[in-house]
Amino acid sequence: MADSKFVYFFGGNRTEGKNSMKDLLGGKGANLAEMANLGIPVPPGFTITTEVCVQYLKGKEYPKGLIEQVDSAIEKLEGIVGKKFGDDNNPLLVSVRSGARASMPGMMDTVLNLGLNDRSVLGLAKNTGNPRFAFDSYRRFLAMFGDVVLGIGHDKFEHVLSEKKQSLNIIQDTDLDVNALKELVEQFKTIIERETGEKFPQDARKQLMMAIEAVFQSWNNQRAITYRKLNNIPAGWGTAVNVQAMVYGNMGETSGTGVAFTRDPGTGEKRFFGEYLINAQGEDVVAGIRTPNPISTLKEAMPAAFRQLEEIYVKLENHFRDMQDIEFTIEQGKLYMLQTRNGKRTAAAAIKIAADMVAEGLIDKKTALLRIEPNQIDKLLHPMIDPNATLQVVASGLPASPGAAVGQVVFTAEHAEKMAESGAKVILVRTETSPEDIGGMNAAEGILTVRGGMTSHAAVVARGMGKPCVAGCDAISIDIKKGVFSTGSCTINEGDHISIDGSTGHVIVGKVPLITPEVSEELRTVLQWADEVRTLGVRTNADTPYDATVARDFGAEGIGLCRTEHMFFGDDRIPVVREMIMAESGTARRSALAKLLPMQKEDFVGIFRAMEGYPVTIRLLDPPLHEFLPDHEEALKKLMELESKGAPEHEIDRVKKIMDRIEFLQEINPMLGFRGCRLGVVYPEIYEMQVQAIIEAACELTKEGMNIVPEIMIPLISHVKELQLVKKQVVKIASDVMAEKDVKINYRIGTMIELPRAVLTADKIAREAEFFSFGTNDLTQTTFGFSRDDAGKFLPFYIEQSILEHDPFAVLDQSGVGELIKIGIDKGRSTRHDLKIGLCGEHGGEPSSVIFGHKVGLNYVSCSPFRVPVARMAAAHAALQEEEMNKK
Ligand code: ADP
Ligand code: MG
Ligand code: MG
Repeated sequence: MADSKFVYFFGGNRTEGKNSMKDLLGGKGANLAEMANLGIPVPPGFTITTEVCVQYLKGKEYPKGLIEQVDSAIEKLEGIVGKKFGDDNNPLLVSVRSGARASMPGMMDTVLNLGLNDRSVLGLAKNTGNPRFAFDSYRRFLAMFGDVVLGIGHDKFEHVLSEKKQSLNIIQDTDLDVNALKELVEQFKTIIERETGEKFPQDARKQLMMAIEAVFQSWNNQRAITYRKLNNIPAGWGTAVNVQAMVYGNMGETSGTGVAFTRDPGTGEKRFFGEYLINAQGEDVVAGIRTPNPISTLKEAMPAAFRQLEEIYVKLENHFRDMQDIEFTIEQGKLYMLQTRNGKRTAAAAIKIAADMVAEGLIDKKTALLRIEPNQIDKLLHPMIDPNATLQVVASGLPASPGAAVGQVVFTAEHAEKMAESGAKVILVRTETSPEDIGGMNAAEGILTVRGGMTSHAAVVARGMGKPCVAGCDAISIDIKKGVFSTGSCTINEGDHISIDGSTGHVIVGKVPLITPEVSEELRTVLQWADEVRTLGVRTNADTPYDATVARDFGAEGIGLCRTEHMFFGDDRIPVVREMIMAESGTARRSALAKLLPMQKEDFVGIFRAMEGYPVTIRLLDPPLHEFLPDHEEALKKLMELESKGAPEHEIDRVKKIMDRIEFLQEINPMLGFRGCRLGVVYPEIYEMQVQAIIEAACELTKEGMNIVPEIMIPLISHVKELQLVKKQVVKIASDVMAEKDVKINYRIGTMIELPRAVLTADKIAREAEFFSFGTNDLTQTTFGFSRDDAGKFLPFYIEQSILEHDPFAVLDQSGVGELIKIGIDKGRSTRHDLKIGLCGEHGGEPSSVIFGHKVGLNYVSCSPFRVPVARMAAAHAALQEEEMNKK
């Protein structure tokens, strides 16, 4: 049997690989071959396949025939270049470069000028008439080989180099003369011998074999393993090795090396963007030894090479149909390309480039859409820290809500509101937040909490508001009495300025400069394309007319979740809400509710107006009532205050009653307690008032000629009989109001599916419900039996130990919770085939969860306003993926 093919040649009209062979040749190797195929000047070389790496790592043995194939590839190379590997007089030098399928920092670094030794360096000097160049190449090779292949720390060589420069009183490497370089070569060889106990290997072939082996082994070094883990790169891929004839950018003033992008990777603007250095080699440009020149100046410095580079830019972009990140070297005026790959870019650039390339006819709309990561869009819509700023990071927490904020530290919601009213910008710093902090959170620029996870109250509310939030930052401790918070390294006073970055979790001392991104023309365009292909609806979770308006602007097609409890927390409302809760009879409760009615109605009028023509799903009151009462400690303090003041009996009595009520309502497990439709069952008057407000608002606007589509949603149903009971009340009130106003409203009654029992009896529930909305926050909570307010204590360990891949409150757990969703959909539609089904948890704006929603047949997802564009893009991806699947 013939040996398999392990080595693929490129360049010199003998290219065997191509771009589509990335799995076998790695990204670098495949693209080098592709450039050679395109007739772009690439120094010739060959690629040893990833398969060899995989085999080698298994048994530390090369597959049979490999060595022979390498030797014959070297021979071919010698023929093309007209130099001989290991020759004393006219040596062929090569670079040895690693290159996995995906670009992977952490892998072995490149070795340049391999093949040099004490004799051939003299041959090179003579041949080129440039001894300085020859010894410069040799000292570079020794240091790289020592570092990369022999594992001697880079700093050992660096140290000697900088001592040499110091003693000669020079700053730039390029000022080292040939004598200095010769001395360095000797010193470097001494380091190698001292560190390894062996002399530097003079034999070129031995050098090559050692370097190839080092590349393979670097696949399993710690840096590479960590990087793979973080980026989900399978350990089984292996890396290829590229051996390539050297071209020299360090031959003097007509030589140089550079890196460039075919478009601006920061903004996406269509302009050449990059840097180069004259008389330099390899990574001098990125290493920051000398300050590189902007690429535009190359036009004057080396006009011919620049023109050629321009042509290549265009050729590469037209061929790869994407922005390229390239490396090039100019040897005595002649240009060579050393690498090309799709360039990394910011979110803004990704969108601009995708949109521009469609306009230029390079790609079609679908390709453009698939190139935009839905999550990238999220980053675009929040203010961010100026990337050029220097930051003093003093603590880190969870990146709970993206964007950055700057403001003065305040420790209470009340204070936040007060200061904001007087025009100050504040950051609310709390141990944790609760519903009564809403006002303060709304007034603050951003929120920082010591406790709580990605789905803590602070995180959820902040994301909903589109406010930056760093949560669970347990490196800080707050001392409210002293008015300070401290981290290990510093103390920050109330009123001091801090900045938080909710995209990274950083807490920064002082004011950092922010830049505010706006919804660009290009973003609007690509989102429109997304709308053209997607079939999944995208609604928003919005509780105020303002949020509804923002969400409309972001493209929401209705409200999927309007939480009415947030409307109860306003300053003018909370006393009435408390009066309602304190009421001892149905009548007393009704009279308090009557005061709330006009306010609720006003809320709904505002929201309906903002969403005119689109459905608005309103959830009736859901949280346990004690959330609206002051906390026990606070009440106790008040009581003691009154008593010590000798306050009148009736005042003391009143506080005592409140405390009784607080005690009565207090629950061990509020999340599983007296909430949701259970409130509606026990205190029907509350829901009655809410329904009256909804339908009255709808009637009013309908009379104005508007098309209003209210959907009344009953929360936390577990048994169909709960729904039957509550629905009966709803229908009665709605009919009464419509009769009284003499208006007919096309409203619907549906339910949230957020308890496993509801899922399992969804067929029965669907007989009563006209729509379902999966409340995936509670459904995740009740499926796992994890309280989301407490899960922060153990979830990080679950993720660290790979028990769970993601926080299930952020990324839908498809195999568990998702399975329940599928069952719920099937059962629901088995008794009501046109049942409309949505999803309104935090997952509604998370791309993988949105794609899942599309696959299982949801009608829509609903998410916070700022995530609506993300969901639109994810829904488009889902549709395009399905299209692909159907083609196959
Ligand atoms: P990385 O994967 O870290 O980018 P590369 O293999 O691309 O590493 O190489 C590092 C540097 O060496 C780059 O600047 C590259 O252009 C340069 N280089 C690699 N091979 C050669 C060669 N044959 N001739 C000249 N320069 C080279
Ligand atoms: Mg590198
Ligand atoms: Mg490179």
